[in-house]
Amino acid sequence: MQKGKIGIDTENIFPVIKKFLYSDHEIFLRELVSNAVDATQKLKTLSRSGECKGELGDLSVRVSIDQAAGTLTISDRGIGMTADEIDRYINQIAFSGAGEFLEKYKDDAAAIIGHFGLGFYSAFMVADRVDIVTRSYRPEAEAVKWTCDGSPSFEITPAERAERGTDIVLHISEDCKEFLEKTKIAELLNKYCRFLPVPIVFGKKTEWKDGKEVDTEEDNQVNETEPLWLRKPADLKDEDYRAFYHKLYPASDDPMFWIHLNVDYPFHLTGVLFFPRIKSNLDVRRGSIQLYCNQVFVTDHVENIVPEFLTLLHGVIDSPDIPLNVSRSYLQSDANVKKISSYIMKKVSDRLASICKNDRADFEKKWDDLKLFMHYGMLSEQDFYDKAKDYALLKDVDGKYFTYKEYQELVKGEQTDKDDNLICLYASDANAQYTAIQAAKNKGYSVLMLDGELDTALVQMLENKWEKTRFTRVDGDVIDRLIRRKDEENGKPADDVRSQRACKAFSMAMPEVEKADFHVEAAHMGQEGAPVVITQSEYMRRMKEMSRFQQGMDFYATMPEYYNVVLNADHKLLQGVMADMDNAVKEKLDGLDTQIAELNTRRSELDKKIDEADKDHKDQAAEDERKQVNDDLEAREKEKDEVCKTYAPTNPVIAQLIDLALLQNGLLKGEALARFVERSVKFIG
Ligand code: ADP
Repeated sequence: MQKGKIGIDTENIFPVIKKFLYSDHEIFLRELVSNAVDATQKLKTLSRSGECKGELGDLSVRVSIDQAAGTLTISDRGIGMTADEIDRYINQIAFSGAGEFLEKYKDDAAAIIGHFGLGFYSAFMVADRVDIVTRSYRPEAEAVKWTCDGSPSFEITPAERAERGTDIVLHISEDCKEFLEKTKIAELLNKYCRFLPVPIVFGKKTEWKDGKEVDTEEDNQVNETEPLWLRKPADLKDEDYRAFYHKLYPASDDPMFWIHLNVDYPFHLTGVLFFPRIKSNLDVRRGSIQLYCNQVFVTDHVENIVPEFLTLLHGVIDSPDIPLNVSRSYLQSDANVKKISSYIMKKVSDRLASICKNDRADFEKKWDDLKLFMHYGMLSEQDFYDKAKDYALLKDVDGKYFTYKEYQELVKGEQTDKDDNLICLYASDANAQYTAIQAAKNKGYSVLMLDGELDTALVQMLENKWEKTRFTRVDGDVIDRLIRRKDEENGKPADDVRSQRACKAFSMAMPEVEKADFHVEAAHMGQEGAPVVITQSEYMRRMKEMSRFQQGMDFYATMPEYYNVVLNADHKLLQGVMADMDNAVKEKLDGLDTQIAELNTRRSELDKKIDEADKDHKDQAAEDERKQVNDDLEAREKEKDEVCKTYAPTNPVIAQLIDLALLQNGLLKGEALARFVERSVKFIG
């Protein structure tokens, strides 16, 4: 029997390992099963080279629980170890600079375990005592048992073991009893060991008999030894990819397409990335890419390995070259990780580009499901934008698709304004903005459909990237003013007295709409134009939309919606209202306007007088009079308002025109809507 102390630094290491009890302790199983797999693979290699003779027999790694004994055992039929090898590989886990490293990473279990090949010792996170019973493949080797209770002392004794291989027996500690539960172990094996290259067996397959679940004779193999990503793409059919996808993500729709990754240089990487259908932000399930290292599951947190937007993809990446077990901050600065990240981005981008180029119809069909991903990528990664800008699509309200270049070509002629700016019109809601869309189409303009969640941000970005381009929502102004190609009459403000009076009457008749402010103005929009158009300023609307996503913009969110109500001074109905106003209130308003004009003249005189007065001798009389004039002016304006307010309801055309415009914009609701219907019925009758 041999007794001894483990390595020189273990006195430091054990307390650290123990501490991991509170972090990732379940990885112990991954570590031990991986060791068993490694030992088995090594044996296969030795057999191939002829160093190990004879039949290898069943090479399955077996995991078993003995609840009575309180043990969990991982058994393999790999190369095994001699007493000497145990001493070398298990006892002397001394390494240069260990103390220093431990100090630095004492809170990072994965870093320590990975960096020092402490895999085996992770067993002590869950076990009070660990036994190794092993017999080397060498013909003359004898079986040995190593046992250690977690302190740095161990024992090696001769043991009984007929067959080559190793049992790692964990005497599970009191506070880790969950690792004696069948379901727990099954869950962990499924998580970490699902695609290991050697069969992993956990108990027997079960079947239902007489209402009970009973074991069958057949081994319950938990893994698939040759996962899809390691097979040759040429040997695989679409169904294979889909089946594999559904195995990984049981509750998902079919993926749109996939990319099979395979690189040998300058790093090793294999994998398959799937494009899921992403309808909205709510659909996005992150953490869906699984990372493997030589088929061992490592993590589904790949944030530092692939660019953020690629985490929207699903699938598997397997690479021995990603330093998996070191801390996260280290990952970010790792040169290999950077290379891998840009490789994956390039692959994804190349694939998309090739679909767009070679099967445009298919690409268009997929675009709606792809665009959230694309836009997210373009907004967050400059490199991706630079590639994607050549095949990203824009869709118009009729469902036609264009690349950016195609679209710019399309609208350049008609939609360049007099200042040489390209004006791109878009709609965000085909129903609500129907009238404005039609008006634009009648003018021969193209209207894009931008109803995605990232479209406000996209528009902002495209305005920055494209030269001399503005995006404006199609109801952002009356159509004649959206794109001013030259100084034409249409769209110009109507500032004559009669139009202004009509404006006043209309604004007096505007109903209260919750969280909405209206500003009434008049413009020349041609006899064929709509009588009243409601528009909403692009700037304010964008600010409000952005404020939903960004902090520090709450101010905009609380503001009411601000609408322009534009009266078409050229329209017959408006002309009618003006004529009617002439009859009904012209005299009164003219009278008031004359008074107002006189008062204004008087006020200018008084202003002048007061300005010129000696600083030490204020002209008190002039100041008193000016105050009186101001009060009078205010009173006359109020009277004008009153006149219009009294007039407005006498002409039902006003209310009717307002309501129609509100209705068109989805702003007419409740009582106001009921009144409109009532009034309309009267009109018909
Ligand atoms: P690593 O696997 O990273 O080298 P471990 O602490 O997990 O570190 O294992 C140390 C060494 O112990 C292994 O390299 C291997 O030589 C030996 N070993 C561990 N488990 C087994 C096993 N099941 N069969 C044979 N050798 C093993």
